[in-house]
Amino acid sequence: MSDRPLQITFVASAKHTGQLPDADAEVAFVGRSNVGKSSLINALANQKQLARVSNTPGRTQLINIFAHRGGGTVVDLPGYGYAKVPGHVRREWPEMIEGYLLEREGLAMVFVLVDGAIGPTPLDEQMLDWLRDNDIPHTVVATKMDKVKSSKRRTRKRELADGCMLEVGDIVWVSASKGVNIDQLRSLVVGHLTVG
Ligand code: GDP
Repeated sequence: MSDRPLQITFVASAKHTGQLPDADAEVAFVGRSNVGKSSLINALANQKQLARVSNTPGRTQLINIFAHRGGGTVVDLPGYGYAKVPGHVRREWPEMIEGYLLEREGLAMVFVLVDGAIGPTPLDEQMLDWLRDNDIPHTVVATKMDKVKSSKRRTRKRELADGCMLEVGDIVWVSASKGVNIDQLRSLVVGHLTVG
């Protein structure tokens, strides 16, 4: 099951949680702009354009929702920390995302993407602190692990985990480009989407 693509289709974009369709079981992906979120969602679904299609300009600052064929929904939250986003949009971001994360019924897991080659940025650390403070279930996914030389990988993993105040084993280490651990992440996602 896990090596089959995640069968998701784009449903809608929304600015507020109230505009989203009800969800029984939902997982959300969140992370800094450019962390590799679209690439990862496309890799999970084994499609080239899925996340990007929904991320056409104008939609990028919206909550994008996908239906999973086996039940449940997948949400792509707008990336944070993008300097080119106008100030008023940047100011709206916390309200929109925090509103979603605090209010969404059926939210089973938030996958927080951290760039594996860079490590957690201050914004990533703030996001993790906030999720912990609010008891919101979350899993850190380190992206772009192919960019870290194999000789440096062990140290880098330790540093990244320390920066996130986690153990190395708590984190899912992936590469969307090389297909590393995509099956593992897909199994986790599907597990949370199964209503039961
Ligand atoms: P988003 O802004 O978080 O949706 O990020 P994108 O998926 O658009 O990726 C941002 C950049 O990182 C693009 O240039 C991607 O090609 C690159 N990227 C994404 N995933 C990987 C990966 O696993 N490995 C490498 N080397 N680059 C990646």
